[in-house]
Amino acid sequence: MSTCPLCKNERSVDFPIYYTFNQKEFQAKRCAACRFIFLSPRPTPDELTLLYSNEYFLHDGADFGAHSPTNYETAAIKGSIKFPEILGWIKKFKPSGDFFEVGCGMGYFLQYARKAGYNVSGIEYAELGARACKEKFGLSVQQSSFEDYPLQQDRYDVMFMGDVLEHLIDPLAMLEKAHAMIRETGVVAVEVPSMFNSIIGRAAGFGLRLIGKKKKMPMPPYHVNEFTPATLKVMIKKAGFRDAIIIQRIKAPSSITLRGNFWEKAAKKSLQYPNYVMTKSFGIFGDRLLGIGIK
Ligand SMILES: [Zn+2]
Repeated sequence: MSTCPLCKNERSVDFPIYYTFNQKEFQAKRCAACRFIFLSPRPTPDELTLLYSNEYFLHDGADFGAHSPTNYETAAIKGSIKFPEILGWIKKFKPSGDFFEVGCGMGYFLQYARKAGYNVSGIEYAELGARACKEKFGLSVQQSSFEDYPLQQDRYDVMFMGDVLEHLIDPLAMLEKAHAMIRETGVVAVEVPSMFNSIIGRAAGFGLRLIGKKKKMPMPPYHVNEFTPATLKVMIKKAGFRDAIIIQRIKAPSSITLRGNFWEKAAKKSLQYPNYVMTKSFGIFGDRLLGIGIK
């Protein structure tokens, strides 16, 4: 039985990707009612501890851990290219106030928001990240998961979660918690990947279903949820926000990570430029989503 994390419906169909970890298969499912895509089973608490342990998370191997310590910081710096666009959108809705980041990594975005005039603080689950936030930037950051962090009612004007929601076992409950912690007229801003919304992602999903095959993903099951513009909007509104705006973004073709065999890489490379133009011009087929919920 796989319960949909978004609408709690029990009926789902297999989506053609899966992960293996801890001698188990984690199959992607699409809810038959709301079309939300999620992994089933969900990783257990013990498996999550293992997935996010420093030894595993920072293991230096392409198919194993997520990042090496040096890559972790390189990725953080490389990611700063998107800061002006993301903070620009947040500023349109909430230009100042108390800014809290869930999962602030090494603190680069939080530092950027502080320079832009916000009063910033945050939490980070990875010990390495939380330590870097304090040592590098002197930021007020606690090491904690959002699940374990005490709820403070009506405390913040902006809550930001970048690359967080796709990792959470109960993303809706965490958005509801964010809603409770945000002041009236405040905003939540969530940034997530949207692998199957891009042209290549849609083509891959369609092709796999057509030939009746499933693809084993070449990384551990860090992403337990897959968002589309429609399901992200539904989830933000379901969490209690009175409005949700979804902005489709796309990685610059030069910064895309190519994985897979020769043909997969060739297809990705040849489609990324037209995809980039489509997303930039018309706001469709984005491979990244920024969702803004207004309380
Ligand atoms: Zn559902």
